[in-house]
Amino acid sequence: MGNRRENLKQAIFLMGQKAIVIEVVSALYESEPVGLKTQPDFYNIALKAATDLNADELLTAVQSIELDMGRIKAEKWGPRIIDIDILFYGSKIIKSKKLIVPHPEMTKRLFVLKPLVEIAPDFSHPATGLTAADMIRNGSFTEKVDCLGEFR
Ligand code: ADP
Ligand code: MG
Repeated sequence: MGNRRENLKQAIFLMGQKAIVIEVVSALYESEPVGLKTQPDFYNIALKAATDLNADELLTAVQSIELDMGRIKAEKWGPRIIDIDILFYGSKIIKSKKLIVPHPEMTKRLFVLKPLVEIAPDFSHPATGLTAADMIRNGSFTEKVDCLGEFR
């Protein structure tokens, strides 16, 4: 919602303030909403970052950024100011009540896989061994995902 590009920029800025060191930023993608169709298209990017935070601490940090930016708990698939998800944490496999890594939905989401190919072309999913490009080839996607070019 709102100024989607500025919201992404703000989130990246706030990550920097929480000891999350951004290393690679994908291009910007625009995707049709999944589920509730009567909402604006989403902007998506994928980031590669380094951090000394453990996975739980990282989740807490990104959730506090979501809250600082004014995200309120709304409809599950509805419009939001920002949504920061952890796709991978190195090659760790985590299944706790509040954190599942690798993110279980990534194989179904072209708006995740497209930017992921860019930032981590050779990285393979620790459980399946598949790269993002493999997951795109294996999947069937209905939503449209457009690359809008370099994110700045
Ligand atoms: P979604 O990202 O599916 O649109 P939310 O951002 O509201 O939904 O997240 C719902 C919950 O998902 C969070 O409270 C968090 O505890 C949980 N969660 C589990 N695994 C992850 C992950 N890998 N990254 C981010 N959140 C996660
Ligand atoms: Mg989320």
